[in-house]
Amino acid sequence: MSITTVINYKRLYDITCDVTPIYSDCGKLCGSICCQPDNDNTLGMYLFPGEENMFTMKENWLQWEKRYPAEDDFPKSWDYPVYFIRCTKPCPRERRPLNCRLFPLAPHLLKDNKLILIHETLDLPYSCTLIKRKTPLRKDFIEVVAQCWQELLKDPRIRDLVAIDSLEREKEAHRPYIVWHP
Ligand code: SF4
Ligand code: SF4
Repeated sequence: MSITTVINYKRLYDITCDVTPIYSDCGKLCGSICCQPDNDNTLGMYLFPGEENMFTMKENWLQWEKRYPAEDDFPKSWDYPVYFIRCTKPCPRERRPLNCRLFPLAPHLLKDNKLILIHETLDLPYSCTLIKRKTPLRKDFIEVVAQCWQELLKDPRIRDLVAIDSLEREKEAHRPYIVWHP
């Protein structure tokens, strides 16, 4: 039986609606590389559990796929389906999914379970200029992303996922670039 989410996605969409990582349009630095499909059209993003309710699933700028959590290395607590979406053209900005709103920051849980925010460490097929140059990000952006992650971590499935990713980084002795800590 699938669990109902405790996350108020509407609130998270509202607080992230207008805030941007830097004061200018960072897409101009890189040609909006994180919004471009790759040659094989494999780029896309997962939705958080329950986030699909923020969409009609009839958006003409999105392709939807239902994925099996075990096949995509999600923790056991995640149920089928995990939604994976690809955008086929530029999105209406106010509708963009949460993962696009939080990038290029990622959550990391320290051994004492304290949340910090780091530069995304996923192996991406493109290079984000903000990460590469360690560009100082807007303080209000960082604060809003921290608020979102504090909220998202209330869902045990999301906490499981973040905990696993954090453990992997620790095992690999990966030294992430820390952007925020409480
Ligand atoms: S890749 Fe980085 S710099 Fe480029 S648009 Fe995305 S977040 Fe901005
Ligand atoms: S949903 Fe919008 S912001 Fe996110 S990758 Fe697609 S075009 Fe870019």
